[in-house]
Amino acid sequence: SETVERHEFGAEVGRLLDLVVHALYSDREIFLRELVANAADAMDRRRFEALTSAASALPPDAKVRIRPDKEARTLTVSDAGIGMAKEDLAQNLGTIARSGTRAFSQTLESAKAEDRPSLIGQFGVGFYSAFMVADRVTVTSRRAGSDEAWTWASDGQGSYTLEPAERAEAGTDIVLHLKEDADEYLEPYRLDHLVRKWADFITVPIAIVQDGKDEAANQGTALWRKSKSEITPEQYEEFYRSVGMNFDKPWATLHWRAEGQLEFSALLFVPGMKPFQALENDRHSKVRLHVRRMFITDEAELLPSWLRFVQGVVDTEDLPLNVSREMLQSTPALARIRRAVTGRVLAELTSRAKAAEDYTTFWENFGPVLKEGIYEDHERRAEIAPLLRFRSSAVEGWTGLADYVARMKDGQEAIYYLVADDADALKASPQLEGFRARGLEVLLLSDHVDAFWPEALSRFEEKPLRSITQGGLDLSKFAAAGETAEAAEGIDALVAAIKAALGADVSDVRTTDRLVDSAVVLSAGSGPDLQMQRLLRRAGR
Ligand code: ADP
Repeated sequence: SETVERHEFGAEVGRLLDLVVHALYSDREIFLRELVANAADAMDRRRFEALTSAASALPPDAKVRIRPDKEARTLTVSDAGIGMAKEDLAQNLGTIARSGTRAFSQTLESAKAEDRPSLIGQFGVGFYSAFMVADRVTVTSRRAGSDEAWTWASDGQGSYTLEPAERAEAGTDIVLHLKEDADEYLEPYRLDHLVRKWADFITVPIAIVQDGKDEAANQGTALWRKSKSEITPEQYEEFYRSVGMNFDKPWATLHWRAEGQLEFSALLFVPGMKPFQALENDRHSKVRLHVRRMFITDEAELLPSWLRFVQGVVDTEDLPLNVSREMLQSTPALARIRRAVTGRVLAELTSRAKAAEDYTTFWENFGPVLKEGIYEDHERRAEIAPLLRFRSSAVEGWTGLADYVARMKDGQEAIYYLVADDADALKASPQLEGFRARGLEVLLLSDHVDAFWPEALSRFEEKPLRSITQGGLDLSKFAAAGETAEAAEGIDALVAAIKAALGADVSDVRTTDRLVDSAVVLSAGSGPDLQMQRLLRRAGR
C-alpha cells in the first residue's frame, strides 16, 4: 500500500548481516538468547521509566512470550517492554550506529570459529542474528506512552520497510519466518531447552506458548541470592556466560553476602580472557545493580573504572526500588557498597597474586587496566602497588616491586625504571648500559599507562621510583664491570665542542657514567621523564 516506506540498510548493515549469517551458522541457536535478552532488557527499561512516568507502568502479568506456530512456520518473541517508536525502529534495526562495528567485522573474519559466538554478543549485533534462522523478520512495536504502532520488515537483503500497524498495548513482537532447515525452532521442547540454557537467570518471566497456554520456561532464580553450598560450579559458569555474554571460564568467581550495617549479595567474576572489545572504548564498570532481585541499572558504577573488567551482579536491600539516576550518584548507601565491593575484589587479587603462574594469566589480560588505579585512586594506591608486575632487565618473566626491593644492591636508594613504546626496544636501550654494567636492576615499562603512574606512586616501601632517563642519577659509587681508571684526557674540550655545535637545541652536555658501549644518550634534565615528554608532545602540549 502507499503507506509502506522502503529504506535501504546502511552499507555496514548489509555486510554485517552477511557475516553474521554465514560466519556463525554452526552456533545459530544463540539467536534465541539474543532476542530474549533484548526483550527482557526492554521490560527492565520500561520498569525503570515507569518510576518517573506513570504512562509507562508495566501490566501485572508482563512476560516475554515465545510462540511457535507450526502451520505458519513462524516463531514469535513478544514482550511488554519499552517498545520502539518509528524512528527507533529505523535507527536501532536499520543502521549500525556503534563505532565498534567495523572493528567487529574485521575481528569476526579473523577470529577462530569457537570465539565467534562470543563476538556477536560483545559487539551488540544481537538482533541481526535472527536472520540466521529466518528468511524474513517482522517487528511490530509500540512505544510505552504512545498510541502509535509500526511494523518493520525485512528479508535481510539490503532493505527494510516501515508501515503503520496496530498493537493493543506497548511492547514488541518479533516474528521470524523460519528458513526451511530451521524447523527445530518450532518444537516447544527445543525452545524450552534453549531458554533454560541461556535465560534461566533472567528475572523477567519467560513463557513458551503452546495451544494458547503459557508454560513457564525460566526459573528466574536469582542465583546470587542462594547460598554457595547450593550452587554447582556448572551453575556459576552458566551464569557467568549469560551475564557478560562470555564463552570462556572465569578466572575468579567471588560470591558473598554482606550483612549487618550494609546488606547486599554480590556475585562477581574476573574473566579468563581479555574481551574482544577493547577495554579502552568504554571505561565504565558494567556491574549490574539489583534492588531486592529487581534489575535497576548497569550504570551505577559499582566498581571504579580501573576494575572495569570485573563482571557480575550486586543486589541490595539498602536502596528503595524506585531509586532514581540522581540518587545513584549521591546516596551514601551506594557509596558504602562501592567501597566494600572494591575492597573485596582487591583482597581476592592480593590473595591470588601469591600464586605467580596463575596470577600471570590475570596480569596479562588486565594488568594495564589495574595500573590506572595508581594515578586515579589515591586512597587505594598502597593496596594496588603490590599487585603490579613488570618485565625487568635482571630477571625473566614477571616480577613485582617487593621482589625488586629485595634484590636491590647495597647502597641502592631508588627503584629504577625505563619507559618506552615496546619491550624489545627497551631491552636494547643504551639507557640501560651503565645500569647493567653495575648490576643495577631496571624495571622495563611498555604499557600506555606507564608514562603516568610511576610519578603518582612516587615511592614503594620507602624507596623512590626513579626514571633512568631523568638526569642527575649518580652511579659513580657502584663499580662497573671492566671499568678502567684511566683519565679521560681532553674530555672537557670535547664536551665544549659538542655544546658549541648543538647550541640552543640542548640545555646542557655532560659526561656520564650511565653508558658503557654507546657514545651518547639523550637525557631529560630535571623535568618530566622522556617518555612523558614524548606523550605530551603528541598531545600537542
Ligand atoms: P544490543 O541489544 O546489543 O543493543 P541489538 O542489535 O540486539 O543490539 O539491538 C539493537 C537495539 O534495538 C537495542 O539496543 C534496543 O534499543 C533495540 N531493541 C532490540 N530489541 C528490542 C525490543 N524487543 N524492545 C525494544 N527495543 C529493542
